[in-house]
Amino acid sequence: MPSEQGLTALVGGMVIDGLGGDPIANGTLVIDRGRIVALGKASAVPVPRGTQVLDVAGRSVLPGIIDCHVHSTYRARDMRAHLLNAPTYNVLRSTHILEETLACGVTTARDMGGADAGFREAINEGYVRGPRLLISIVMISQTGGHGDSWVPAGIRLQKRAWLPSSVADGPDEMRKLVRSLLMAGADFIKICTSGGITSVTDSWDEPQFWFLDEECVDDMIRRRIWWVPTLALVPQSIGRRKIDKAWSSQQLGQEDDKEAAIYRAMQKQLPLWQDAVRRGIRVAMGTDQSHRLLVGENLIELDFMVKSLGMSPMQAIVASTSGGAECIERPELGALAPGRIADVLVVDGDPLEDIRVLGERSRIHLVMKDGRPYYNRLHPVP
Ligand SMILES: [Zn+2]
Repeated sequence: MPSEQGLTALVGGMVIDGLGGDPIANGTLVIDRGRIVALGKASAVPVPRGTQVLDVAGRSVLPGIIDCHVHSTYRARDMRAHLLNAPTYNVLRSTHILEETLACGVTTARDMGGADAGFREAINEGYVRGPRLLISIVMISQTGGHGDSWVPAGIRLQKRAWLPSSVADGPDEMRKLVRSLLMAGADFIKICTSGGITSVTDSWDEPQFWFLDEECVDDMIRRRIWWVPTLALVPQSIGRRKIDKAWSSQQLGQEDDKEAAIYRAMQKQLPLWQDAVRRGIRVAMGTDQSHRLLVGENLIELDFMVKSLGMSPMQAIVASTSGGAECIERPELGALAPGRIADVLVVDGDPLEDIRVLGERSRIHLVMKDGRPYYNRLHPVP
């Protein structure tokens, strides 16, 4: 997608840079050919003649959100519908998930299984509206693990028919699978280290290739390993299950029991998590958004980060912007700073006062990616 040509300036808003710097009241942000070229107090940043000026007074301006854990492609949750849908239907339905993810403010997403290079390229070339994608193509697991679609009927029920097999046992098979995924354009490799909620043949808490414990936290802090906790999904799913009677019977795994057990384990872990954050574990935002839940509601995760991890709103924003960029090794993203790619959100209200404003879709007034406005309710100043 070519960047928007020419200069654009957002003026009068409160600018939150995503790096943890003090917010700039009545700030000006200048964008040129998809990159940020200047920001600062309005009195200190001149706006060149001929610039398209957008008045964002009374609103907050922040970097586009980076969701480090999504599944952006569709498959029917209902097993009967899944078996009756053509693979192309799933691909075409995925465009809605991608559009909604961008529209709620996620400008970059790390897809942890489901999207192949075609999705990434169609977005980059502008045929589909969506966040910039980093892809793993599949999630690698052992035979019988979370990524193995085997069912007791003796067949493998592939969830997304455009993907290669994700099962590998032992170093040689693993090496070969990783090579073929990199060949097919994977940006990174995802490995399932435990069972999962949706899988039939494993338990969510069995270690396969772990739930966080103290030793693990120590190790992660020492080795500066990123933690992407995905906190909103399980509570949201439990809530959905209460109001939607069909929800529990649409899948093969014992999702309701697993979710209740995970929720209990999560509550017990809160002190460990909050201590890990105080001690400086590196946290990046991720939702585990999928066809199941959180599509277009990704930014409610920040409220969960504040409540569950004891983060300040500023910490949650940094973890969702420049922190995410570091986690996915894309230093040109995730901050409002000269030279960075112009992924920008304009939001009604002050997320530093109340982080929940970010999760309200009606408050998102502009989503800009690569300097190009995708969803824009702002009016240019004549
Ligand atoms: Zn996931």
